[in-house]
Amino acid sequence: MQIIADPQAVQSLCHAWRFAGQRTALAPTMGYLHAGHESLIRKAREMGDRVIVSLFVNPSQFGPNEDLAAYPRDFKRDVTIAASLGADLLFAPAADSMYAPDHATWVEAPHLAQGLCGRDRPVHFRGVCTVVAKLFQLVLPTFAFFGEKDCQQITILRRMVRDLNMPVTIVGCPTVREADGLALSSRNAYLTPAERAVAPQIYAGLRLAKNLFDQGETDAAALEAAVRRHWEKNLAPGRVDYLSIVDKSDLQPLARVDGPAVMATAVRLGKSRLIDNIELR
Ligand code: AMP
Repeated sequence: MQIIADPQAVQSLCHAWRFAGQRTALAPTMGYLHAGHESLIRKAREMGDRVIVSLFVNPSQFGPNEDLAAYPRDFKRDVTIAASLGADLLFAPAADSMYAPDHATWVEAPHLAQGLCGRDRPVHFRGVCTVVAKLFQLVLPTFAFFGEKDCQQITILRRMVRDLNMPVTIVGCPTVREADGLALSSRNAYLTPAERAVAPQIYAGLRLAKNLFDQGETDAAALEAAVRRHWEKNLAPGRVDYLSIVDKSDLQPLARVDGPAVMATAVRLGKSRLIDNIELR
């Protein structure tokens, strides 16, 4: 596996692969790799002739009071994992090589970025779209792999690719969970043992809503109220940033579930802000 920090060198190599007719498969990450990231890299290995893993804690997607400086990092371990999964290239740029001091161009989809995580993280999706667009220009991937755990992110990126005619196929990968249901996240590292013990209740609440939906309840307010009651009993230290049922394609809130929908949430537990979702269909 090659490890390259220089964006221009990555661009030359990846464009040569693509123009030689190879299928290139990109798994973008912020590092501190866990089994969720590994599932993306495995899928990339299945579908691509060349697998590129990017590792970049993108400053532009963090707000001023967020955890950019504290974000967990372990470069050596990430190298070992990416290599063991058969990646051909690990792209790990420095922030100043990705953003010129007078960087002035942004990619955004404000209509899709206002609700859910965007309400508390107003610059987040603008940063995500911009860095992913830059990665696509550098790597020119045939396929790019994203986790369905970040449901707002993948919906926005699919729209970006469609709206800007980017020659990339976005591949969604199912959420990988701990045995007790907690969605894997680099931010789980911040949880204290007491917080970790109750954290699986986030997904247990979402599953409760899915069961009620499967039994015929389609009223969004009733489904949300049932989840909040469950959390009040079982997730005492948690603070709910949002809990919402939205249309799967445009992320707008639904009063009644009568088509493809997703129930999405962000919960604060101590220093961690954990997101999760479940499809209702
Ligand atoms: P991050 O490093 O947190 O930016 O995540 C990089 C990619 O991995 C994103 O596409 C995430 O959606 C995906 N990802 C993170 N956690 C999981 C998980 N538990 N299961 C599946 N994909 C995940």
